[in-house]
Amino acid sequence: MRPSILDPLFAPLASLPGIGAKTGELYARLLGRESLEDCRIIDLLFHVPHSLIDRRKQPGIALAPQGAIVTVTARVDRHQPPPKGQSNQPYRVFLQDDTGELALVFFRAKGNWLEKSLPIDETVMVSGKVDWFNGRPSMVHPDHMARLSEGEKLPLVEPVYGLTAGLSPKVLRKTIEAAISRVPTLPEWLDESLIQKQGFLQTADALRLIHHPRDEHDIDPQAPVRRRLAYDEFLAGQVSLALVRSKLRKAPGVPVKPTGLLSAQVLKALPFSLTGSQTAAIADVLRDMAGEDRMLRLLQGDVGSGKTVVALMSMLAAVEAGGQAVLMAPTEILARQHHATISQMARMTGLTIEILTGRTKGREREEILARIASGEAQIVIGTHALFQDTVNYANLLLAVVDEQHRFGVHQRLRLTAKGVSPHMLVMTATPIPRTLVLAAFGDMDVSKLTDKPAGRKPIQTVIVPGERIGDIIARMRAAVAEGKKIYWICPLVEEDEESELMSVEERHAVLAKSFGAQAALIHGRMSGPEKDAVMMGFKNGETRLLVATTVIEVGVDVPDATIMVIEHAERFGLAQLHQLRGRVGRGSEASSCILVYKGKLSQNGEARLKIMRETEDGFIIAEEDLRLRGEGELLGTRQSGTPGFAIASLEAHGDLLEIARKDAHYLLDRDPELSSPRGEAIRTLLYLFRRDEAIRFLHAG
Ligand code: ADP
Ligand code: MG
Repeated sequence: MRPSILDPLFAPLASLPGIGAKTGELYARLLGRESLEDCRIIDLLFHVPHSLIDRRKQPGIALAPQGAIVTVTARVDRHQPPPKGQSNQPYRVFLQDDTGELALVFFRAKGNWLEKSLPIDETVMVSGKVDWFNGRPSMVHPDHMARLSEGEKLPLVEPVYGLTAGLSPKVLRKTIEAAISRVPTLPEWLDESLIQKQGFLQTADALRLIHHPRDEHDIDPQAPVRRRLAYDEFLAGQVSLALVRSKLRKAPGVPVKPTGLLSAQVLKALPFSLTGSQTAAIADVLRDMAGEDRMLRLLQGDVGSGKTVVALMSMLAAVEAGGQAVLMAPTEILARQHHATISQMARMTGLTIEILTGRTKGREREEILARIASGEAQIVIGTHALFQDTVNYANLLLAVVDEQHRFGVHQRLRLTAKGVSPHMLVMTATPIPRTLVLAAFGDMDVSKLTDKPAGRKPIQTVIVPGERIGDIIARMRAAVAEGKKIYWICPLVEEDEESELMSVEERHAVLAKSFGAQAALIHGRMSGPEKDAVMMGFKNGETRLLVATTVIEVGVDVPDATIMVIEHAERFGLAQLHQLRGRVGRGSEASSCILVYKGKLSQNGEARLKIMRETEDGFIIAEEDLRLRGEGELLGTRQSGTPGFAIASLEAHGDLLEIARKDAHYLLDRDPELSSPRGEAIRTLLYLFRRDEAIRFLHAG
């Protein structure tokens, strides 16, 4: 049971003043939860500022440093709306102070709104990031704008938070202040000597202070408040992983003795032969599963390296040994696609291969559940619905989890906590550095797919300015006339789903003028069956040009699609571009990728796109990405922390992870049941960071 001392932090977020149904929805989205009911006060406290605006010094326009967030007080000189009929061009407003001129740049902005907030000759205060190009400074979408005449004031020092469309910084700040007032006194779970050595604050103080930065130093990942919380978070993770592992180790292994009959059948029918590293990875898996210990293996393979076949061969081994196997995908689209591919590859075996997702309902669901419980269903493919409480397996020997970085460790815990501990194969397309593997999964065995399937042609990548969109469309029409298939990816709109939707629909409307019914549209707001239908139409060639948001980023496999157009490529993380590009170059036809950028590229932006042009090697791209942007982006996430972590970041706090790992082992060696006073406090820590599922293992067998 959760220690009652944490109750104020785990009270529903809705219990704070000023949160209604509408704002509640925004908070749920902000905090990445399904609904407001899932949001607790602690979740908001873990939403920490990523930067700060310091209005105490205002250097003046001419002295604003490149890339810095600055505040400028200046007079509005003139407005420059986009030329008629070119709504994709930005709206510019020019400000002047004694030192120079600054262009405020707005995309898809409403002119009358801008005229009202920035009237000509009015003195205004704006804050935002300054970009210098060709000796001229500009600021794209200022974070804040205020009119001095209206007595509007901006606080001198202000933390800046990640936002979601519709939620204003002001409202968020107020809610956070209310949340801070609920922070209780917490027990100390760290050794005094470590606290001394690291100069750590107390956790409760850190939770309050992190929201009240005094200056830049307090925003730095190395600030004492951040290091304390990062350490707590790592420690919670490491203790829970260690508990799971010791539990897994204790669980008697079920050695899997495959006959090899099914896999031989499937192999023979494959239209290709396995690559060397596919064969090696399958051998790793078979060896692990034949042993006494539970397998816990990570399969790393770049996009298109052929992980699905490895999964299938592993699952067949489990079935040959008389058991069941599941494959869990992060999204409905992927689950359905895996189900289609795998059913096709294994068609001659006569196996019963089911699909189970959140969408499987009613009678159908009952029947599938019955077949899973009786063991008649040998392979089950689905989403996390596979591991809900109502699903009972007759003899689950293997669980394969695809694209793991979308899942936390929690799913794994949930499964093990259900009393089934199958062998586990986790597949990821992201080249994860060793330290990240350790933080996210604990010590895991790793197989890598290093060689690409034979016959792949390199993908030719070109970088094209947005002004040439007309040429691109003409070229694409020619390509479609030759029978080619094209993905057209629309800009990622930072933190704003509404405009993302708008932009993809707009683009589709424009392209439909040239491509008619051959242009299809897919995005995240469509219902599952709608998405399926669109994917199906593209796969079987009814449509030839698929206009998409990044919903197709992960895993989609249409081998005869050979052209990828990515608009506003400069807004994507490199890892994400790599994932997207990996959707083409899958068949024997030569493929190309067209990276379209808008406006002027910054130096860094140019360097990043060049890397894409120069290499297709996911590991090199990941390394460069890490170097240029930091690891948050490496996994395609927009938060600053490492995926699965609210505050800790490996890049910044890698040293702490190692200490936390040792600390966890030291603690559990001496106090495996967490019953000492420190052990009790550690339980509170696990609850605080929602790693408490591991506590169940203390008493379960
Ligand atoms: P990913 O690792 O990205 O999940 P997939 O498993 O989807 O990759 O495989 C990508 C494509 O490559 C599929 O069309 C698959 O049939 C094909 N493929 C897999 N292995 C090989 C191989 N050894 N030789 C040729 N093609 C292969
Ligand atoms: Mg895949």
